[in-house]
Amino acid sequence: MSGRTGESVEAERIVTHRGGEVRRGAKFVLYWMQTSQRPWDNPALDLAIEQANRLRLPVVTAFALTHYPEATLRHYTFMLEGLAQTQRLLAERGIPLLVKWQEPWRFIAALAGDAALVVCDGAYLRPTTEWRRKLAAAVDCPVYEVESDVVVPVRVASDKREFAARTIRKKLRSKVDDYLREPPNLELLVPAPGTDLHDGLLDPSDPAGVLSSIQSAGHTIDDSVHPVTRLYPGGPETALRRFSGFLESRLRHYSAHRNQPHTDDTSGMSMYLQYGQISPVRLLVEALRHAERSHHQSQYEDFFEELLVRRELAYNYCHYEPRYDRYEALPEWARKTLEEHAGDERESHYTDEELENGRTSDAYWNACMREMRETGYMHNYVRMYWGKRVLLWSASPQQAYSRLLAMNNRYFLDGLNPASYANVGWIFGLHDRPWTERAVYGKVRIMTPGGLKRKCDMPAYIEKVDRLARFVHA
Ligand SMILES: Cc1cc2nc3c(=O)[nH]c(=O)nc-3n(C[C@H](O)[C@H](O)[C@H](O)COP(=O)(O)OP(=O)(O)OC[C@H]3O[C@@H](n4cnc5c(N)ncnc54)[C@H](O)[C@@H]3O)c2cc1C
Repeated sequence: MSGRTGESVEAERIVTHRGGEVRRGAKFVLYWMQTSQRPWDNPALDLAIEQANRLRLPVVTAFALTHYPEATLRHYTFMLEGLAQTQRLLAERGIPLLVKWQEPWRFIAALAGDAALVVCDGAYLRPTTEWRRKLAAAVDCPVYEVESDVVVPVRVASDKREFAARTIRKKLRSKVDDYLREPPNLELLVPAPGTDLHDGLLDPSDPAGVLSSIQSAGHTIDDSVHPVTRLYPGGPETALRRFSGFLESRLRHYSAHRNQPHTDDTSGMSMYLQYGQISPVRLLVEALRHAERSHHQSQYEDFFEELLVRRELAYNYCHYEPRYDRYEALPEWARKTLEEHAGDERESHYTDEELENGRTSDAYWNACMREMRETGYMHNYVRMYWGKRVLLWSASPQQAYSRLLAMNNRYFLDGLNPASYANVGWIFGLHDRPWTERAVYGKVRIMTPGGLKRKCDMPAYIEKVDRLARFVHA
């Protein structure tokens, strides 16, 4: 940072998009909130506050709503519920949150004319990295990006695309202690005077009002996927409350039930992580504290494996693989074996519509699809089965790949995340190894209804999905 590093924020989290001197006579330091939609435990916000305190300026936070590829009303609703809480909590700290429907970099560039410098949060996917590049080219003040949604910054974790969990695990473990510390949550010295800084602002305290203003201004939001507020309300406060419920009553069952889809003993944090409504550092710090107190260290280790190793492997994939959303990025051995079996007879062929409506001959699969479509979530173990079966029912592995990715991102609240791309890829052999050769799958790992029936209580899962779907629509 012009030769300085952040003092409250680990220097390795900070990427300089545009350096130079801060603007003289500026009115505020601007935090462009995009991936870390929370008022606390947020290194990007801490850097903005630290710089503002140094310059004796207030902090203004801005969030641009825009058309995001594949996002539906379900996603916008969850996000806006979160922004309502975030705005209120920031206001209590003297920090306004300005929200506008506009292409993000344009909105931020317009505000940046009054800013000493701009801080933004971390981006790993094409649209969001592109916005940051355009912003840096459009402004004449410093722009810093802070990796605030991973525990170990991606470039520190590894300098290349990793093959598998086994290759990144040791690297993450050797570095994680440097980043697992209580977030500073700095106090702002100069609160902002008011929020009348820009035309056309939306009022985030009213999510329904924001949605109707957007729609009446002629912007279309795909409303073919219903919101699931009753079951999964968005928001940083909600996330923290739900996580403490998990620690208090469910972490103890995590290792035993992690692969039992009829139970509810995982954290349910993926959707909150997707919108940055909770910090992964906060989750691990709290989980470790709780595990030490309650002697649940082995459960903590299993949770750590998912949240740190699996999740940050996905970030590694999207950061180092520009084709992260393409079939062509899958490992060569996997594409080769799938190609060799491309002509194998398929068990059935279903249309996209039959799949999305859960009208296959497989009752387990239909229940998975129902959970996803009606509730916006699905337990990890059945996500694997859900994906593997579509490979068997599609004309080609390429078709299966695009269908799975489209459904994943359309229905899941945690869709459109690096974990979406890495895990859909996993169905086709990404981050995995060759197994015994079979029809259609070749050497890619299979999952069968028989195996699922043996390992899980599927009748109880079907009942659970029925209960949840009725609850969503009650
Ligand atoms: C086909 C398929 C598609 C998937 N699509 C997504 C997706 O779109 N978005 C998404 O966040 N996850 C996805 N996953 C990973 C995983 O299923 C979900 O993260 C998990 O089910 C979320 O539930 P939880 O928060 O209760 O997880 P927990 O078991 O409580 O795990 C804690 C956290 O660890 C992370 N995590 C857990 N498993 C994985 C994993 N396999 N890969 C990366 N991170 C993981 C998540 O952030 C999760 O919140 C997918 C998995 C498969 C097999």
